[in-house]
This record gives sequence, structure tokens and C-alpha cells, in this order.
Amino acid sequence: MPVPPNQPPQRPSNVVTAQNIQRIPLEQFDVKSLSRDKIRELFRVGKLPTADQIVEEVMLRAITSGANDIHFEPIEGELQIRFGLEGALRRIVSLTPDMNDPIISVIKTKATLNQFEKKKPQEGRFSSIYGGDPVDFRVNIIPVLAGERCLIRILRKSNQISRLEELGFSNENLERLKILLRNPRGLFLVTGPSGSGKSTTVYAATNYVQTPEKCIITVEDPVEYRLPYASQVHLPSDKSFNFVDALRAILRQNPNVILIGEIRDAETGIVASEAALTGNLVLSTMLADDAIGAIHRLFNLGVPAYWLASTVVGIVYQLLLRKICPNCKEEYQLSAEELALLGVPMESSDLRLFRGKGCPMCGGTGYKGRTAVCEIVTISPTLRDLIFQKSSILKMREEAANYGFQAIRQDAVRKALTGVTTIQEVIRVIG
Ligand SMILES: [Zn+2]
Repeated sequence: MPVPPNQPPQRPSNVVTAQNIQRIPLEQFDVKSLSRDKIRELFRVGKLPTADQIVEEVMLRAITSGANDIHFEPIEGELQIRFGLEGALRRIVSLTPDMNDPIISVIKTKATLNQFEKKKPQEGRFSSIYGGDPVDFRVNIIPVLAGERCLIRILRKSNQISRLEELGFSNENLERLKILLRNPRGLFLVTGPSGSGKSTTVYAATNYVQTPEKCIITVEDPVEYRLPYASQVHLPSDKSFNFVDALRAILRQNPNVILIGEIRDAETGIVASEAALTGNLVLSTMLADDAIGAIHRLFNLGVPAYWLASTVVGIVYQLLLRKICPNCKEEYQLSAEELALLGVPMESSDLRLFRGKGCPMCGGTGYKGRTAVCEIVTISPTLRDLIFQKSSILKMREEAANYGFQAIRQDAVRKALTGVTTIQEVIRVIG
């Protein structure tokens, strides 16, 4: 696939394949299964891997297992390493606490951070190529009681954009989404907490609306997916221009569709509504706790109500639920306790649901893959009026319900009843 000419050239710091690094059996150095004396003995005879080797091994495992982030956590008596995988943390290994310093030092070198600064938070990034695919790593380090805690977020760049149909939305929600996206202009927002699949949805939406007659320009930090039909503006790491500068310049290029990576502040929110007001379809993501709450969040950021009222066409709030592993899925009878938790009367105690027993295919967790669940607000004329008047969330929610709005919980429970996920997963993610 040709790379659009406006893309910055890839400058990966190194190329890693499974063949050119020596694999390290991390489990053999786990303080949970090996005594301190034994580890000291290994150290004396030079059998312990170097911090460099450990970091490479951990990163390679994270990439191959599909993890989204790596946590290096100095806790009481150990350096715990865990992966964030499909929204839950999984322990990989616990090393001796004296490995904390050298490992953080290796990561700081990769992310060109200050080696000697151990008292202040630091942020950086680096990139590598794994199996031919470029991967971006965002590093965040904070000082904690027992040393320095480090989080590495893994951002995979990919040409593979999902279609809206592949994200797991119910047929009803999919239809509502498509109707919203038929608007030629306006502001369309996908909201949710971080790691809820907002970007994937917004890219799939862009894919859905694109045609050869349209001019599509994106502004992102970083570029997460390559869109072969769009001009993509990548915000520079030296901060020489920001979202707002980029957006103002983009508006002069007469686009039809603008994708803004994320609305994080008042200025971006204001310019995004400005862009929607001047006849563009603007797609973006935003952090929010629910779909209606997103409107109030924009008010609080300082976006004027009259601008929002005249531009917002729809808001999606989404979360990701783990799907039951198809290999070890089983039907089971709910216990009285679970029924009570669900508020289901005892008469319907023959209610049967599904779960994963746990098998080698799902690493014993009973889950494999994730699916999106969502709630969608379509802006009716009355709701538009309520936004204009800056009405309360309660009033807006009532009006949205009159117009077919269903809370995300309903969508999630339906997925548990049909055996896509478990009721425990619904409770874990939605509460
Ligand atoms: Zn399984």
C-alpha cells in the first residue's frame, strides 16, 4: 500500500525479530518460585540475564501476546512485571528488587530520558519494528516508595482498519451509527475511558464515510492507522505546532471530512465545532463517563453551548468486554447469589448463562478477544434545544430516552444473555 506523501519517514531505532534476539526463560528467575539464595547463586556464577536482555524479552512477549501495556512495578520485596491484556492485568514475572534500577535505566536510554532524574515523573517514547510491523512505545515513569514505576504503552501501527461491522456492535446499534454517519456535516464523537477502543471505532467510521469524491484530512498524535485515501497530519513530538494550529490550516484546504485524534482541551473542542459549523463532518474521540455526560464535559471545557447545539449530530459511548473463549465455553445454572446480584426474582431461577472453563487456548482465563458495547445518543430537535439551554444531564437523558436511547448496561446484559460474554465481565467493566 503506498504511503501518503505527507507521512513522516519511519525512523525505527532498531529492528527486532524473534530470530535475532536470544530468548530468556524469565520464569526461571521468578522470585515467587525460586529462593533468594538460589538467585544470588545464579548471579554469582553469571547465569542471570542482563537488564537489556530482560527488557527485550519482556517487550517481545508483550508484542506477541497482544498486550497493550507493560507495568514494571517495584513493590514490597520484588520487581513485579505485568501485562495489560484485554483490559485486565496479568502477572508475567517477579524479579529481585535490585533489578529495578538497571531495568528502568535500560528503558530510560531507549526513550532518551534523563538517567539521573529519579525524583520526578518523566515521559518519553521510542519505536521498533517487530516482525515487519512498526510499533510505538510510550514510556511513563514515576517515582514510588520502592524505586521507580514504569508503564510502557504499546501502540501498534497498522494498515488494517476494521469495518464498523467487525467491532461487535449489535445490529440495532450498527444501524443507528450508520444513520448518524450519513450526515454530511456536524460533530460526531466517540467517547469512553482510555483503552475502550474509541480510536478503532472512529477510524472504522471514517472508513465507512469515505468515497473517492471526498477530501479527508486527519490530525493525530500519534498516527495510529494508515488511511490510504486520506491526508494524515502527524503532530510533531517537538510541539512546534499543535492540534489547533493544524486544524486551522486544514480548514483552509477545503476538506469534507476531518478526523481529530482526540479532543483534550477547550481550544481543540472549539476549533472542532468551528470546523463542523463550516460544513465539515468532524469525527473525534473524547474521554467521558457516558454519552450524555460528554456534552457537559464539552461545556466544562469551555465550548459554547450554542456551538455545540448547532453542530453535534451524535455521541457514542463505548466500552470493551472480553468475549467467552469459544473453545471452553459452557452453559451453567446461576446460583441464588448471582441471581440476587442481578436483581432477578427467584422464580426465574432456571436462568442459564455462559462462561469459559479455561483452557490452553485462552491461557486459562476463559476469555478470548473483545467486543464493543455502546450507547448512542442521536441529537433530536428537542435535545438540540436542551443543549442550547445547557439543561441538566437528567433532562437530556430523559429526552434521549424518548428518542430511543438505551443505556450501555442494556447492551452489555444482552451480550451476556446471548453468551457472547459473562455476567461477571459485565459487572467488572460496567459495575
Ligand atoms: Zn478457553
